[in-house]
Amino acid sequence: MFRAGGFTTQPNWNCVEDDFVLGACAHRPFGFISRSPTGVWTAFNSNAHPVGEFDTLSDAQSALWATHQPTHTIRCIETQRSWLSLCRRGGRRDSEGVVS
Ligand SMILES: [Zn+2]
Repeated sequence: MFRAGGFTTQPNWNCVEDDFVLGACAHRPFGFISRSPTGVWTAFNSNAHPVGEFDTLSDAQSALWATHQPTHTIRCIETQRSWLSLCRRGGRRDSEGVVS
């Protein structure tokens, strides 16, 4: 179930509803953001623990993405690397082939 374009290191923000945004990367959600009736955006991590409250959606997105970075570096990018190494195996060029 891979999307065209392959892996991305940028998060995808899916607006489920006007006041509910799901953040995802590398094929899995890492948190969500919801807006209260008073207009405050609250970001939650993947365990549904509040990360913080923000005046704007973009601030909430930045904060939520930042909290995901440690996990992202360990899990998402490692997954990406292992896939890339599989793709590159066998296709590697040797630059020492030509000697005149
Ligand atoms: Zn990630």
